Amino acid sequence: MKLILLGPPGAGKGTQADILSQKLDIPTISTGNILRAAVKEGTEIGLKAKSFMDAGQLVPDEVIIGIVAERLQKPDCNRGFILDGVPRTLAQAEAMEQSGIQFDAVISLEVSDEEIVGRMSGRRACTACGATYHVVAAPSRTEGVCDKCGAELVQRADDKPETVLSRLKVYHSETAPLVQFYQERGILKPVANQPTIEATTAEVLKALGM
Ligand code: AMP
Repeated sequence: MKLILLGPPGAGKGTQADILSQKLDIPTISTGNILRAAVKEGTEIGLKAKSFMDAGQLVPDEVIIGIVAERLQKPDCNRGFILDGVPRTLAQAEAMEQSGIQFDAVISLEVSDEEIVGRMSGRRACTACGATYHVVAAPSRTEGVCDKCGAELVQRADDKPETVLSRLKVYHSETAPLVQFYQERGILKPVANQPTIEATTAEVLKALGM
C-alpha cells in the first residue's frame, strides 16, 4: 500500500498517518519530521532548511526530492509507505511519478482555513521524538510532557499565528494544485473535516475501502 496524505498544515495528516501506519504496519515518511531532526542535529540539510522552515516557506524541491529518494531505499519501505507532508509541489509529485512510484490512493483531508488557524494554536510537539498533541483535542497525560518518551512538549516556532498564515498561503498556491493532479490520475480520495480524530480515521478507512 502506497499512500499520500494531502491537506493544509494542521489538517491532521501526521495524526492520521501514525494511526494508519500502525494499522497497516507500514512506515510513515514525514519530510517535516526528517527536516526537524536534521535541523536539530545541525547537518548540512538542516542548515539549508532552517531559514525556510522558520519563515513558513517551502524547502527547495531538490532537497526534498533527495531526502525522499534516500528514505524510500530503506528496506522497511518494501511493503509500502505513507507519505505525510510530501509531495507539496507539482515538481515533487512529478519527480515521484517519474521515478516510477505508483500510489494506490491520495487521501485529501479537507479543512477550512478558519478551522486550521484555531487548531494550530493548540498544537504541541515533542522536542525529542516529534510526537504531536493538541491541548484540547489530543492532550498528553501530563501537561507539557510527551506520553511516548517523557521529553518536553513545546509549540513549534512555525505554529505561531503569523507563520501559520504564511504556511496557509503557501499551501493554497503551491500544494492545493496537487488535488487536481491526483484527481486526474483517478486516485484522489477526499475526506471532509470531522469533529474528532476517531471520526476522521473512520472516514479515511472508508475512503480506502477498509
Ligand atoms: P510539516 O511538519 O510537514 O508541516 O513541515 C514543516 C516545514 O518543513 C514546512 O513548513 C516546510 O518548511 C518544510 N517541509 C516539509 N515537507 C516539505 C516538502 N515536501 N516540501 C517543502 N518543504 C517541506
